[in-house]
Amino acid sequence: MAGKLYSLPKLPYDYAALEPSISEQQLLLHHTKHHLAYVNGANALLEKFDKARKERLDVDMKAAARDLSFYVGGYRLHNLFWENMAPAGRGGGGAPTGELAKAIDAEFGSFDRFKKEFTQAASGTEGSGWAALTYCKMAGRPLIMQIEKHNVNVIPGFTILMVLDVWEHAYYLDYKNDRGKYIEAFWNIVNWNSVHDRLSAWLKS
Ligand code: MN
Repeated sequence: MAGKLYSLPKLPYDYAALEPSISEQQLLLHHTKHHLAYVNGANALLEKFDKARKERLDVDMKAAARDLSFYVGGYRLHNLFWENMAPAGRGGGGAPTGELAKAIDAEFGSFDRFKKEFTQAASGTEGSGWAALTYCKMAGRPLIMQIEKHNVNVIPGFTILMVLDVWEHAYYLDYKNDRGKYIEAFWNIVNWNSVHDRLSAWLKS
């Protein structure tokens, strides 16, 4: 008996809640069209595997593995992205606290320096992709990574604490081609408590 399929999660806030950083129309499209497309893509692939195994057909595993990484990566990264944002002034914005603040200060020297480096990683992501704050337990360091498209080039032992979607579909209605303005506005809606709790849970695991 095969496992379950993926489903589009509800957002933890209203579509208009992230304004003016992200408009209602932009968030609605992003969630109900783009994110949903990855859910459907991932499920189509799982169903293809199920069918092929049942009917003993061959699957092109090279292509399937790449597609799986793209669709499931896109699905999971969006889940995380929605979780690591909150309305400005109501959980969003400000600065990290607790062990997250300590880890960021220890690694980057200051929150401002971290913001600068993360902004550069997000601005410099080529084409479509993501900027991510990750944590390596082995080195005991938070590290900034870029993700191409949705294909997480997973480094074993790392976990992703926070992501910023820099695909054009994330900001074209609000900012046209001005990715820099979108990244600047993102800092007003980062849910630092959520990022902090991901780090705490990871350190305890
Ligand atoms: Mn997206």
